[in-house]
Formats: sequence, C-alpha cells, structure tokens
Amino acid sequence: MKGRCPVCGAESNLEFTPYKIPYFGDIMLSAVSCPSCGYHSSDVILLSEGKNRNRHEMRVSSADDLNATVVRSPYGRIEIPELGVSVEPRKGESFITTVEGVLMRVERVVKMLSREEEGARKERAERILRRIEDIKSGKAKMKLIIEDPTGNSAIIPRN
Ligand SMILES: [Zn+2]
Repeated sequence: MKGRCPVCGAESNLEFTPYKIPYFGDIMLSAVSCPSCGYHSSDVILLSEGKNRNRHEMRVSSADDLNATVVRSPYGRIEIPELGVSVEPRKGESFITTVEGVLMRVERVVKMLSREEEGARKERAERILRRIEDIKSGKAKMKLIIEDPTGNSAIIPRN
C-alpha cells in the first residue's frame, strides 16, 4: 500500500502484517517506510477483545519459556529485574519476537557498551552477559515484565 510520509510528505510504503497466535488471537503489525527520507516507524495492535492488560509478567525457567511470544508496542516498557536492565519505550518502534529474542537484543546492546567501558562498569556488563548465558542454558531463572499503558503489549506463553 502507498501512503504519505508523515515527515517529508513523499510517497511511502505502508505495510500491514496480520499475525495469528494460537490461544491468543489476532495481532496487526503496521509499518511505514519512506524511501526518500529514510523514515521508518512501526506499530502493533492486539485485536483480541478483553486480552488487553497493562502489565504482563512471566517467569522464565526453561527452554520452552524462551520460546514464548513477546509483543511490544511503541509504548511498552520491558524489564528484567534479575539482569537490572530495561528496554524503554520508543516512538515508532514495536516488535514481535520471543523471550530469547529479547535476551539477544539486550545481549547485543550490553556487548556494544562493554567494549567502550572499563573497570567496574565493564565488570557489570560482563556479569550481565554471563547471566544471560545461564538463563539461555536453563541454569538461571529470570522474570520478564512488560508494562504498557495502551495494553497493546503482551507475553504469550507457548501452549
Ligand atoms: Zn519521508
């Protein structure tokens, strides 16, 4: 689909991708990308009635848990208390991934930061990376929390 870019007004591409998640319902992911100015934005809407909650929490302690689906709207804040990290909301950035996918995002960012850090901060980053490895191999547990005032974020366990 074609539309107008909200930034430069040029013709941009609109994409709507419907997802159906078993035992949960429909999710619509929409994305705008503009070839003239490079603007990119994505949004997500949960279409299933009555499923919208503002806070989701899940204990992650097995390989199965790592495969749970995570839907984050641009207003969702993800927190992992055991790692002391959070993924802050960002306008125009939504994603549908798995718990493992969230961990990989965190890992990527921490790795990048740890290269530029020294001393205590570098040690902290390395501690987080080791913890992530332990969680991925089932040796450590964690809790994943998402808070979203719009109710369009969710953690959906595998059934
Ligand atoms: Zn544009």
